[in-house]
Amino acid sequence: MKFCTLSSCSYANSVVVQGRDTCVLIDCGLRNRDIKPFLDTAGLSPGDIDAVLVTHCHTDHIYGLKYFLKLRDVPVYSTAGVLKQVNERCVFNKSPGFRVLDPYSEVKINSLSLTPFPLSHDVVTVGFTIAAGGERMGFITDTGYVPDRYRQAFSSLDYLYIESNHDVEMYKSSSKPYHVIKRNLGPTGHLSNDQCGQVLQSLDLGRCRLVVLGHLSEEDNEPGRALQNARRRLAPDISLASAPPRTPGQWSDKHLKIQTTKNFV
Ligand SMILES: [Zn+2]
Ligand SMILES: [Zn+2]
Repeated sequence: MKFCTLSSCSYANSVVVQGRDTCVLIDCGLRNRDIKPFLDTAGLSPGDIDAVLVTHCHTDHIYGLKYFLKLRDVPVYSTAGVLKQVNERCVFNKSPGFRVLDPYSEVKINSLSLTPFPLSHDVVTVGFTIAAGGERMGFITDTGYVPDRYRQAFSSLDYLYIESNHDVEMYKSSSKPYHVIKRNLGPTGHLSNDQCGQVLQSLDLGRCRLVVLGHLSEEDNEPGRALQNARRRLAPDISLASAPPRTPGQWSDKHLKIQTTKNFV
């Protein structure tokens, strides 16, 4: 399996996950005009997408959902609580094919297995584990913390896409209103660089090949800070990257460290 972020920041979030015969979009916070070009950059078109998974109803995750479903009428998967809020926010002309997921219960979308995990945000939010072709990926964004009880489910992953939203030090000079800062730093906000690092440290990432840091705040974080913080919590053989904001990143397989064999002279 492989994945590619189409945009990852506080402005717009959307990630493509591809298995052998199935390709899903996780969130569609893109502007309408960006959907086709961003998919095209990833070598895809709307017709390649088999389903949309939604984490929650915030604009940066669902802005382009209604438009995308006009381009490509596919099922929309999430828990009942998320789908209810998405339906209220989007005001669909034609009701999408909603597929209700039960928290912690695995469902199949063709050869792809999907399990939702409720997260701690100021609206109903889920993260996912996705399995395909003998590999597993974890997907965690938009949460004030990651519950300890998820440690087992999010260990033994091959790939992890995780939020590293803000740098707490940078918030000290932020121009954001106090109530926004308080919310973002609180238990229903976002993971800071340090919290992300703590999660990485708490998981058994013994078989993990790649960690991609996502949802970086463009104002209150810097990729260098986020990467440096995460790097020191990870084994050296795990590849690490940060997802670019407002533009597609690389496919995950391009980030993997090339396995070199020793040359005997
Ligand atoms: Zn978000
Ligand atoms: Zn959010």
